[in-house]
Amino acid sequence: LVHLGRVNKHFGALHVLQNIDLDVAKGEVVVVIGPSGSGKSTLCRAINRLETIDDGVIELDGKPLPAEGKALAKLRSDVGMVFQSFNLFAHKSILENVTLGPIKVRGLKKKQAVAEAMELLERVGVATQADKMPAQLSGGQQQRVAIARALAMRPKVILFDEPTSALDPEMVNEVLDVMVSLAKEGMTMIVVTHEMGFARKAADRVVFMADGQIVEESDPESFFTNPQSDRARDFLGKIL
Ligand code: ATP
Ligand code: MG
Repeated sequence: LVHLGRVNKHFGALHVLQNIDLDVAKGEVVVVIGPSGSGKSTLCRAINRLETIDDGVIELDGKPLPAEGKALAKLRSDVGMVFQSFNLFAHKSILENVTLGPIKVRGLKKKQAVAEAMELLERVGVATQADKMPAQLSGGQQQRVAIARALAMRPKVILFDEPTSALDPEMVNEVLDVMVSLAKEGMTMIVVTHEMGFARKAADRVVFMADGQIVEESDPESFFTNPQSDRARDFLGKIL
């Protein structure tokens, strides 16, 4: 579904993505883990074309990512993104946050968009908050709304960039639980996170990045119990 081949990206002199090869199949959950500055966010942003790449290919469904216009808007709905800092529209209600994209991009009638949005808000457990503004919700609730908003676009894949790292500890699990259930329902997901519990429960594969490279790739159990590289061992020693 998602294919990256020999992807390279520089920020000035910094070689932030180095010959990245990665394939993510439909229904697969890939957890990306690695030290700060290793290029995890840049990788996610490149798959959504929020960043351009210098060379290599990124394909969705076997087609190169479009550069502009309608096709780019379509890409942004096919590739959902959930950020560390919820990024809800602050001046729109929870319900509007979820209906806006479907009305604008998918061309739904308002009534249909509201019906679908309420169903999604129900699914992530915040339907009772639909008429509130984002600031009136807890961080965990806002992040669940952000997930509902991504789902409302009927994405082919959702990228999560450290979705729980800005949350108070007691709210982390309510967000991870939603993500685990999405994973079980067969959503294709690329998740940057250091939450080992999530990786163990939901990941098909763990990708370890360091200094712009994929250093190691394995199933979660072998990665956490028996990392192969010194870099991964060293990193796990620090976070566990
Ligand atoms: P973290 O765990 O801290 O989120 P990361 O693995 O997500 O780190 P990236 O955000 O992808 O890392 O950044 C990789 C490197 O690229 C870092 O050294 C960062 O400072 C640099 N970088 C990121 N965005 C830009 C930019 N727009 N311009 C210049 N340098 C950038
Ligand atoms: Mg990052």
